[in-house]
Amino acid sequence: MLQPPPAEPGMREEEVDTPALILDLDAFEANLDHMAGLAAAAGVKLRPHAKTHKSLVIAHRQLARGAVGQCTQKVAEAEILAWGGVLDILVSNEVVGPRKLARLAALTRIAQVAVCADHPDGVAAIETAAEAAGTRLTVLVEIDVGTGRCGVAPGEEAVALARRIAASRHLAFGGLQAYHGRAQHKRSPEERAAAIAEAAQAAERTVEDLRRAGLDCPIIGGAGTGTFALEAASGVFTELQVGSYAFMDADYARNDPPPPFRQALSVLATVMSVPRDGAAVVDAGHKALPTDSGMPLVSGRDGIRYEGPSDEHGRLVIEPGADRPRLGEMLRLVPGHCDPTIDRYDWYVGVRSGRVECLWPIAARGAMA
Ligand code: PLP
Ligand code: MN
Repeated sequence: MLQPPPAEPGMREEEVDTPALILDLDAFEANLDHMAGLAAAAGVKLRPHAKTHKSLVIAHRQLARGAVGQCTQKVAEAEILAWGGVLDILVSNEVVGPRKLARLAALTRIAQVAVCADHPDGVAAIETAAEAAGTRLTVLVEIDVGTGRCGVAPGEEAVALARRIAASRHLAFGGLQAYHGRAQHKRSPEERAAAIAEAAQAAERTVEDLRRAGLDCPIIGGAGTGTFALEAASGVFTELQVGSYAFMDADYARNDPPPPFRQALSVLATVMSVPRDGAAVVDAGHKALPTDSGMPLVSGRDGIRYEGPSDEHGRLVIEPGADRPRLGEMLRLVPGHCDPTIDRYDWYVGVRSGRVECLWPIAARGAMA
């Protein structure tokens, strides 16, 4: 159940209840436009990742700008999108468990749905679910192109699994999932280029092996916000699965150079205590902001550092010479990592020129299954 929103349209930003997730609409729209333009210019399809935004409104804005569909990581995210009219969904992930697979198979009645696999037993379970539902599921083979997470080895192993999929009456072979997560936050352009060159080679080799086996790859998917230009230029990938580009975060901003997008997301917090010289406390701690990718940054306030969270508090250090925040003052915090930040909120508070313009429910928030 969604909590009531922390604001109403027309309010000034200072009137928003905190902590609140603020979306700077000018920056957000510029980011969507920019990525849509880059993908179109490169001749690759855009299938943005809904695990980042978790929002039907945002999915539809991306589709309106030419995206071919959406990626999800979870069945529950796919359900929320499909129920809300997103008609082409790739679960860019392995789905294991009969109940989850039955739900996924049921979705094929209202949307085009594909899922990934990296094991023959996984394929057999997807097949059983599709057969039971009297439907056909599209399955992509995930190959490990360097991340060391899920995925079979490129080449022979991938071909064997693709053959297994293609041989089933209840399944269709959808292509390759080749996402290189570890490459996204490699800081230097040389490291990122080397990682994606290897990933693209591995994918290309596998596509050729598949072709020799008589199997076409309708989708060769991968790419994130740190490397998408490389996958787009590789001539191998057909779809970009970028997620964070719509929002940006402090961790991506540390890439050299940072991805070409504006910081559109922040957490609005209130200074709830100024207990000592050089110290202040905001009402945004662990429950408001993740710190897996570093501390949030305090936007537009040089010399104020977010030192650390506890459950409901964020400790700020005010460096000598910096302006001390007042009790009750509001600060915008730039999250270290956008995805888990968004997942902590029920609403985007869309702001333009200092006014609340819209409230968008984060409908797939907390979709664990
Ligand atoms: N594709 C897959 C399979 C992912 O796991 C992720 C994120 O981790 C992405 C795409 C999107 O990456 P980003 O949010 O960095 O653009
Ligand atoms: Mn992420």
